[in-house]
Amino acid sequence: MTAPTPRWISNFVDGHFVEPDERQGFDAIDPATGLVHARVHEAGAPLVDRAVRAARRAVPGWSATPVRERTEVLRRAAALIEERFEEFVAAEVADTGKPVTQARELDVARAVANFRTFADVVAAAGQESFMTDLPGGRQALNYAVRKPLGVVAVIVPWNLPLLLLTWKVAPALACGNAVVVKPSEETPGTAALLAEVLADAGLPAGAYNVVHGFGSGSAGEHLTAHPGIDGVTFTGSSATGAQVMRTVAPRVRPVSFELGGKNAAVVFADADLDEALDGLTRSVFANTGQVCLCTERVYVQRAVFADIADGLAERARALRLGRPADAATTTGPLISQAHREKVRGYAALAEQAGATVLTGGGVPALGDGLDGGSWFEPTLWTGLDNTARPVREEVFGPVAALIPFDTEEEAVALANDTAYGLAASVWTRDLRRGHRVAQAMEVGVAWVNTWFLRDLRSPFGGMGLSGLGREGGDASLHFYTEPTNVCVQL
Ligand code: NAD
Repeated sequence: MTAPTPRWISNFVDGHFVEPDERQGFDAIDPATGLVHARVHEAGAPLVDRAVRAARRAVPGWSATPVRERTEVLRRAAALIEERFEEFVAAEVADTGKPVTQARELDVARAVANFRTFADVVAAAGQESFMTDLPGGRQALNYAVRKPLGVVAVIVPWNLPLLLLTWKVAPALACGNAVVVKPSEETPGTAALLAEVLADAGLPAGAYNVVHGFGSGSAGEHLTAHPGIDGVTFTGSSATGAQVMRTVAPRVRPVSFELGGKNAAVVFADADLDEALDGLTRSVFANTGQVCLCTERVYVQRAVFADIADGLAERARALRLGRPADAATTTGPLISQAHREKVRGYAALAEQAGATVLTGGGVPALGDGLDGGSWFEPTLWTGLDNTARPVREEVFGPVAALIPFDTEEEAVALANDTAYGLAASVWTRDLRRGHRVAQAMEVGVAWVNTWFLRDLRSPFGGMGLSGLGREGGDASLHFYTEPTNVCVQL
């Protein structure tokens, strides 16, 4: 029996899927099994150029379309994703191996919410205006007209592919821009499906284009180096962010960077320990630790250190690794064998640095056709301090180090002792302390007694190595537009 021919995932340029070219094909691998599930057409420089030119042609018409009509396209896109919900779930699961329950409840549901939220935000947006008093009793009226940037390059990673893509595409389009999207080479599927949905929702040809491929020397670099783009919004690792910044620097284009994290949780002895343990289980292990907001450093007040360590290890052991389609599965594989080797390397480093492995630490034997996948056990370490590499560097896997502290000041100092600054969570019943510690965290988002709770209208982003700028609500509106200040002497 021969294996079935894998389906093609093609580039989408100027309103059409481009005929795939086998000479430029690469495999899309299902990380749960290690099997090829599709072939992807890598866009070379000429195709990226065609996509950018198509986007440039689309800008005048789309940006002149009344806001009400533009936001209606977004609302129709949300409704069409709901109609084709299970197709999106299947595409996301094929690329990532994540449990279907998560793809339904988080990834695809959030894509719908992104389109609706940014339709609302842009429809309600006002303009800044000031009356300026002049000598002699005269006045001037100052107001700002916000115009779209033009063509926005959207580059996204593999961990929450559709969620992060729509987080950028929805506000960019609502503001009147055209986009050229470069999904991760690991997760091309949902960006291609979204092309169908946006076309059916009435988006004009050229306003949304997808080019597939890799970073350096491939579609990612061809796109960011293209003189026809007017801005770059990027989510990915800090090292790639720095590279993208160098590429766009000669043309001085605006960039928005959502980068890596090395996020802390701080658990005080007065916390509701069950609530804290539930929250920590999610924050360390959600999406197999592959969320930029995941916790990899857990600081615990000494009086409850043993309770938290034992409780978290017990919850980690109760996670169910298995087939994505199984409703009981809580935890999927890592995205690739290469990424698993990276996580394994950090596990080895932790043990060399003297860590005690509370649970996990290796590759599980799952059987059921899954052993070709890139699985890794949920892993917890004690006995490390802030100097160890697995505590300083982003691992991006289902791992965390638990470290004791005595005082609030010490906890704040430990949590802030990092080059990153994305997120933190604080667990305490003392709300005054909760506010105080959350405000002292040098991060873009600090939670108290919760994690990952997001109002999409609030600003999101990071400090230090975690990024540049903010997106979400008005912050997105500000990134995806340029104001012209008009000053009229009255
Ligand atoms: P990555 O930086 O390797 O790749 C991200 C994207 O950039 C991919 O599409 C890739 O093909 C592309 N790319 C790579 N090199 C490029 C280049 N030279 N020019 C242009 N494009 C290039 O990141 P990843 O491994 O896909 O994702 C994991 C990282 O993303 C982690 O560090 C994680 O913390 C971060 N992340 C951050 C956020 C956030 O909101 N802050 C959210 C999710 C993930």
